Formats: sequence, structure tokens, C-alpha cells
Amino acid sequence: MAMQENMQQVYQRLRQAANRAHVPWEAITLVAVTKSVPGSAIEQAWQLGIRHFGENRVQEALPKISSLPPGITWHFLGHLQTNKVRHVVEHFQLVQSLDRMKLARALQKEGEDRGKVIQVLLQVNIGDEKSKSGFHPDEIEDVLVEISTFSHLRVLGLMAIPPYFPDAEAVRPYFRKMNGLFRQICIPNVQMEYLSMGMTHDFEIAVEEGANMVRLGTALFGERAD
Ligand SMILES: *Cc1c(COP(=O)(O)O)cnc(C)c1O
Repeated sequence: MAMQENMQQVYQRLRQAANRAHVPWEAITLVAVTKSVPGSAIEQAWQLGIRHFGENRVQEALPKISSLPPGITWHFLGHLQTNKVRHVVEHFQLVQSLDRMKLARALQKEGEDRGKVIQVLLQVNIGDEKSKSGFHPDEIEDVLVEISTFSHLRVLGLMAIPPYFPDAEAVRPYFRKMNGLFRQICIPNVQMEYLSMGMTHDFEIAVEEGANMVRLGTALFGERAD
């Protein structure tokens, strides 16, 4: 069974990277990214013990979520339009892609309406790329101070998608910069738990540089058609 082999390889690589980083590998949360992956494969990954799953498109995710076990922790990873906030608040447990204040206000309002505190990560545009969304690293402190006053939003950490380089080693300085940012944050009522960075191409380097949440699609489910 290909998925089981993929998983064993991923776990082994994670363990080795965690060893190099001198952290227990159990402290690293593996999020299986299931965009374009059918529900049957998600079910299989769940049977094999994966508990965190991530999707980046609301329309694609909703039917899958409703057909899968309720114990799954769903992470939202994509650019979220404010008119879809309602669905995400209802079905996802962590929004990793809070990338602008307008979205923060929309989530806060939805949380108030439902009496629900929404857990989020701030997305950081660590490479300052035009093609990517997220807050500029220099804004993070001010954004956190502001959001810490929101009654129904709880920031649990930072997420980044660094620039792509064919040689994954070239991305290390961006991961290091993220970790520096993550560690220096010291704001009352803000607890930084998760540093979400690292995908199939570069997750070992991310872990070496302090990631404690990695988001893997291809390594688990194979190449996507898209
Ligand atoms: C698709 C995606 C991933 C996983 O990418 P792979 O390279 O297949 O591991 C991780 N994070 C986000 C935000 C994604 O959209």
C-alpha cells in the first residue's frame, strides 16, 4: 500500500530532522494536506493514524469534511474570502492563513455571532513576494497587539510559505528568519505555540530551523494532478 510506505518514510525523515534539531519528534504536528485528494484516501490516512488535515479551498473541502469522521482536526490553509468565513468557522478548527486585518475583523464578527473563539495562525509573507499573501514580517508585532484585544480570535502562532527554490537548502535563511520572529514575540495574552512551515520539498530544513508544524501533501499522497 503506497500511502503506508509514504507515511513510514515521512515519519522516518521527520524523526531524523527532529533529532538534528534536538527536539522530540512527537512535538511536531504533521498536517496532511488533502487538496485534490479524494475522501477515500483521507479516510485511509485517518485509519493509519493521521489526525490533522488541511484544505485550501472552501468549496472543495466542505463535502469532504461532512463525509469524514468527526474527530478530524481540520486546518484551513488557503486565501480566505470574507464571504466564505461562515463556512470556515463552522467546519475548521484552525485557520492558518489569517493574512490581513479585514479577515481578522470578519472572523472576529463571525466568532461573536456564534459565541465561538476562533483559533488562527498569522500568515507571514516572509519573502516579501508580490505573488503571496500574508503580513509583512515588520507588521507582525503591531498586528498581534491589535488582535490580542479581539474577544473571539485567538492567535496560536505563525505560518509561512517561503519562496520556492529548486535547491531547498536556499530556503533555510527564510525559515531561520521566521523562527527568530516567532521567538522574539512577547505580548501579554498572546501565546505562540505553533510555527507552521515546511512542505514536501523542504520540511526537513524547516524542522531543523524550528518548525513544530509541517504541512505535507505530495510526500503522503503522491503528485497532484493540478
Ligand atoms: C498544497 C499546500 C501544502 C502542501 O504542499 P506539498 O508540496 O504537496 O507538500 C502546504 N501548505 C499549503 C498552504 C498548501 O497550499
